[in-house]
Amino acid sequence: AKDQGRNRYEYYTHELTRQVSERFRLERDLRRAIERDELYLVWQPQFCLATEALIGAECLIRWQHPEHGLVSPAQFIPLAEESDLILSIGDWVLCSAIKTMSPWRARAPNLKVSINLSPRQLSAAGLSQRIRSLTEQYGVSPGLIQLELTESGLMESQDVNAWLQQEAAALGLLLSIDDFGTGYSSLSRLKALPINQLKIDRSFVMDIPEDKNDMAITRSIIGLARGLELEVVAEGVETAYQAQFLREAGCDIAQGYYYSRPISAAEFAARYLGR
Ligand code: C2E
Ligand code: CA
Ligand code: CA
Ligand code: CA
Repeated sequence: AKDQGRNRYEYYTHELTRQVSERFRLERDLRRAIERDELYLVWQPQFCLATEALIGAECLIRWQHPEHGLVSPAQFIPLAEESDLILSIGDWVLCSAIKTMSPWRARAPNLKVSINLSPRQLSAAGLSQRIRSLTEQYGVSPGLIQLELTESGLMESQDVNAWLQQEAAALGLLLSIDDFGTGYSSLSRLKALPINQLKIDRSFVMDIPEDKNDMAITRSIIGLARGLELEVVAEGVETAYQAQFLREAGCDIAQGYYYSRPISAAEFAARYLGR
């Protein structure tokens, strides 16, 4: 039994060492990913539920790793968030997104672009200055940039409040609370934030119509948004039934595989901004 205990101990330390070096390697590779041109953005369209008109697109980051293939952002963004790496990646995203949307203005002057931000990006100095200079450089109106901050990220940090109140509002940026319903925002705090949009998390949408609780939660989030005069978006819409339910419940905008998977910028332009 003693031997077994030791073996198990050795197994665990070995496994732990393996996992630590794996993470370490992944982080090292991620540091090089920008200069090696391994990151790119994909775009997922968003539609008005009432009219089916195209409203905007969310850009989502992808990493084509030379050996591991496509690595999910759900895997590498949390890793990047543990260090300053998220700052350079976040800056790359902002720059690429604004650069990409610039030529789209001619075809779709009101098309909004949603960009995911990490809370650490808000705490770092110079974010609003950077967005200001990028939008000026590429001739993009800040009023078409919809920044998405997760509900948990928003509640985590106090710097966020100050940044949102002073800088973002002054620039005229649009602010959305992402993954809404999964965090714990107090409603009084919500009222005080200069946001224009709530984004219902996919976890509430995906089991409609099987899960009656999720349907009730979704309806209440839509009701809350309408009461606070915020725009409300549902993500992860996969079926016609879900789209219909959301439309009838008064949701404004929908995004999900039912309409389109995230696609390359070229495909997005060809499909939605063509003649
Ligand atoms: P998120 O912001 O909540 O993005 C929605 C996720 O749901 C995306 O996964 C999207 O591809 C996926 N999705 C959209 N519609 C459907 C659907 O109908 N069905 C299903 N099953 N999935 C759908 P993705 O692209 O893997 O991104 C995962 C998360 O990684 C994002 O969640 C976001 O938190 C983070 N992320 C992605 N890009 C960025 C970025 O540029 N910066 C930061 N900070 N985070 C990012
Ligand atoms: Ca998002
Ligand atoms: Ca989500
Ligand atoms: Ca559920």
